[in-house]
Amino acid sequence: MTSTQNIIIRDALQEGSQRLIESESPWLDATLLLGCVTKQSREKIMASYPDSIELEVYSSYMSLIEKRAEGYPVAYLTGIKEFFGRDFHVTPGILCPRPDTEILIEEALKQVHDRAYKRVHDLCTGSGCIALTLKLENPDLQVSASDLSPVSEKVFELNRKNLENKDVKFTLSSLLEDIGPPLDLIVSNPPYLTSQETDERINRNWKEPSLALDGGEDGLDLIRIIIKDAPPLLNEGGMLMIEADPRQMDEMEQLMKKAGFENIKKICDLASHERVIMGNLK
Ligand code: GLN
Repeated sequence: MTSTQNIIIRDALQEGSQRLIESESPWLDATLLLGCVTKQSREKIMASYPDSIELEVYSSYMSLIEKRAEGYPVAYLTGIKEFFGRDFHVTPGILCPRPDTEILIEEALKQVHDRAYKRVHDLCTGSGCIALTLKLENPDLQVSASDLSPVSEKVFELNRKNLENKDVKFTLSSLLEDIGPPLDLIVSNPPYLTSQETDERINRNWKEPSLALDGGEDGLDLIRIIIKDAPPLLNEGGMLMIEADPRQMDEMEQLMKKAGFENIKKICDLASHERVIMGNLK
């Protein structure tokens, strides 16, 4: 490859994706990384397979491929992750938005509409993808967000400005400690992996912070606190909606019932696994 001045895009993608054999989506990863280096969309790259790139571009691309092979998420390398049709900034220290979380958005928007909710709080907001998307999809909502992490605060502000989302207020808070009533809906994608699952990922060079993943021995440490602390902050008929692991849903249902929530419902993700649980107060 290095003997010629120009490299054919298809060959570069082939080489990159072979290097990323451990990724779940080697070709897509390679395409996004080449798009990042050449400042072109994924669609444009896909329409340009027979074209060529200069050696310098190829070298920058291959160094991103190496970083990806070391375990960095594509989004940390490109700085961008698409969520619900919009680009969100992400940096190391932040959980990259996942497509699974889009079902939480769809359900929250439906509930807000059906129950005429006005005030929504997104807890453990990370990049802000949930809070900012809800506000953009329904500008009449009053949305706030919080996270324990100062990195989240920075990235949230960046996304808030970029998406021209002026009125979404961020509070630096340990779970619901500094969050005040009255709220109609609390949504959250908290850390919910078990400590063992988190350790296994970190041993596989996973680069996302354990702060955003580790939910303790059974993954429910933070979720237990959220379920216990949410009711006093909610208005009559207010709702709690949490993303978690399918295996945690039954225990969460019990915890929510004990805390006074009713009409408990579980929503499946794209792989048909129960991923979001919700319930409302009387
Ligand atoms: N769903 C994420 C994963 O499995 C975990 C996110 C979280 O803990 N909130 O990677």
